[in-house]
Amino acid sequence: MIDLHAHSTHSDGSLTPRELIDFARSQGLTALALTDHDITSGLEEASNQADISGIRFVPGVELEINTDQGEFHLLGLDLKGNRHPLEEKLVEVRDHRARRNERIIRKMQADGLSVTEADIVALTQGQVISRLHFASYLVNIGRAVSINDAFSRWLGQGMPYFDPKKAFDLAEAVGLIHAAGGKAVIAHPFSLGLSWERLTDMLATWQKAGLDGIEAWHSDYALEDCLKLAEFGREKGFGLTAGSDFHGQSWPSRRLGHSAGGIEIKDELLDWFI
Ligand code: AMP
Ligand code: MN
Ligand code: MN
Ligand code: MN
Repeated sequence: MIDLHAHSTHSDGSLTPRELIDFARSQGLTALALTDHDITSGLEEASNQADISGIRFVPGVELEINTDQGEFHLLGLDLKGNRHPLEEKLVEVRDHRARRNERIIRKMQADGLSVTEADIVALTQGQVISRLHFASYLVNIGRAVSINDAFSRWLGQGMPYFDPKKAFDLAEAVGLIHAAGGKAVIAHPFSLGLSWERLTDMLATWQKAGLDGIEAWHSDYALEDCLKLAEFGREKGFGLTAGSDFHGQSWPSRRLGHSAGGIEIKDELLDWFI
């Protein structure tokens, strides 16, 4: 059993990289990819621990991509080369997010709320601040009745506290992943919410832009849909991966080493990028 999509405390998971590797080993995994959101700072610790534990470590990252179709996630897997250009760009993306957080706080303050950055940080448990934390804050002070309500009325596009976000464009992200010796794999492709025709069109377009693989199996989706996606991917010459998108206790329903339909992820999915 392996897993090609997992998070640590360096983004929004609940286990440190070392704990994650130890947990993977205790669950009987033979290989694990760490794919934190927009950050690679956990890779070294995980890699060292994997050497000690004797499991194969796949250094990875999960990047946020902006396109005309909306936002999606791209996995960079097996980043065994020069990560320097990628990491420089990631610093920019994180700086931009920090400045955006300040702007959102100023918009809320201008609207009469007495919020400070510390109030939001207090809700993060060490994670990167995202709109989800602003939404929690608005629920806590009674400005919204639910997270969804906070997005609909305050934080969603076109709403009073909305502020656009800078993320990677696909070609740039693919270039940086390839420069780092990795494979570019679209994560949980159904999250784009596109029709099957539109999705397969987009995948074909992105393949021309260098996309190498498809995460065909992901915890959030029905096995039947994943099998259809895998068949499409195989036909078109994409590499296929599967992941649990494990986050630890922050998301208890996701089980390490298991993906769509609760099925164990087979070692052979590693073969195409070795
Ligand atoms: P950000 O990256 O700061 O734009 O925030 C993205 C976070 O907000 C992610 O965790 C999303 O899952 C969450 N999010 C975005 N839109 C919604 C929504 N309408 N309802 C609930 N959560 C949302
Ligand atoms: Mn996450
Ligand atoms: Mn994702
Ligand atoms: Mn993820």
